[in-house]
Amino acid sequence: MTQTVLITGGSRGIGRATARLLGERGWSVGVNYAQNLRAAEQTVAEVERAGGRALPVAGDVAKEADVVAMFDAVTRAFGRVDALVNNAGIVAPSMPLADMDLARLTRIFDVNVLGAYLCAREAARRMSTDRGGAGGVIVNVSSAAARLGSPNEYVDYAGSKGAIDTLTLGLAKELGPRGVRVNAVRPGLIDTEIHASGGKPERAAQLGATTPLGRPGSADEVAQTIVWLLSDAASYVTGAILDVAGGR
Ligand code: NAP
Repeated sequence: MTQTVLITGGSRGIGRATARLLGERGWSVGVNYAQNLRAAEQTVAEVERAGGRALPVAGDVAKEADVVAMFDAVTRAFGRVDALVNNAGIVAPSMPLADMDLARLTRIFDVNVLGAYLCAREAARRMSTDRGGAGGVIVNVSSAAARLGSPNEYVDYAGSKGAIDTLTLGLAKELGPRGVRVNAVRPGLIDTEIHASGGKPERAAQLGATTPLGRPGSADEVAQTIVWLLSDAASYVTGAILDVAGGR
């Protein structure tokens, strides 16, 4: 049977690569985006070319009503939601904590923590077998920053990803008996547009060269791990946090 996934932040980067790979495996994909409809439409086209079905789904993960509407839209289009890739995330320009203002801190934690929790909650409500769901899988997208701390760059972002690791550990225990596996990937330096949004477009290339594998990772390399965690090949894996970070 065709499986359906909602990928938050599916319009670009790691989310798009995951959508495309799932399309190759015949999945139906809800491609969430915040602003960039054109990018979401390109992802949808790539999924369809790969053999899957896809739908662009607008919404800010930090807004509860948007999150509920996103899940509703995917359910209307494809019948149900079997999986969530909790991927949407942002950084802000590099600076020490002492220079960060409240607006920046609030937005980082709203999107990266509150947004991820709201999406996971919505998935739990719909997938848990004790609530009439059919079970399912959640993959949270954390970051190596959660264990490195990102000093002088973005300790706010690093802390927000620490929360994702903790969510993964707790929710895996909560939802295991209810038919839902919950895991996380912790990407390292991956070649996407997120670094430019933090003011350092060359960051992945420059720092990637200093990792044990000597290069940045690609969005596809993270997506491969996410897709494996979603698959039945990972049927006994829950509560795991997998580094995809080239040894960093
Ligand atoms: P990206 O290329 O900048 O893409 C970010 C995606 O998130 C876009 O699809 C964007 O939508 C969406 N998004 C942003 N804010 C949103 C919101 N409030 N609601 C819904 N969607 C929102 O980023 P990426 O590098 O692929 O990162 C994906 C995830 O991997 C993030 O959680 C990031 O923290 C994590 N990660 C990345 C790296 C790395 O080196 N790239 C390393 C570790 C962890 P629009 O297109 O509409 O803007």
